[in-house]
Amino acid sequence: YGETVTKDMIDDMAKKHFPMCMRNIHNALRRDRQMKHQGRLQYTLFLKVLGLPIEEAILFWRESYANDQKTQDKFNKEYKYNIRHSYGLEGKRANYPARDCRSIITGNPPGANESHGCPFRHFSTSNLQSALSALYGVPSLSQDMSDILNAVEAKQYHVACTRVFELTHDNQGMAEGESVSHPNRYAARSRELER
Ligand code: SF4
Repeated sequence: YGETVTKDMIDDMAKKHFPMCMRNIHNALRRDRQMKHQGRLQYTLFLKVLGLPIEEAILFWRESYANDQKTQDKFNKEYKYNIRHSYGLEGKRANYPARDCRSIITGNPPGANESHGCPFRHFSTSNLQSALSALYGVPSLSQDMSDILNAVEAKQYHVACTRVFELTHDNQGMAEGESVSHPNRYAARSRELER
């Protein structure tokens, strides 16, 4: 998906096209105006693969952070380097891929005040249920909600995520009946269906 994404498109794209893991990070960033390292890394790489160029990424993150001197100093000294690192412009200059679902699901679970991870795997049932209603409009007591929670109970997190995708895309699924295996595939497929 070669189209350039700009920082001003992200709020809208998050609502329309992002899977829950990235929606969760995005909302936490907007709410708290800060983000712990793991969340920053997960989201930076996702946005990179989505098509956000480095200049836009730096502006996006700078504006997302609190605008006090201390935070902005930390941004210039540390966060900016980390973003450039994710884009392969510092250190080893490696072309880091965005994390796939397996890596996110089996990785370090988020601690207090952290927002990385997969909500299907890492949220409590009640938090997951309210997030599904609030963010994706899944009615609390519906069959769809039970189906999603049953899939989570069976540790079929990608099945639950795929079901949310279908529910929010007129029952159209991922291409060729695949299930969600990568947050960027989710977003790309969602954008594809919008065309
Ligand atoms: Fe994100 Fe994958 Fe979890 Fe869906 S299943 S919320 S895309 S990590």
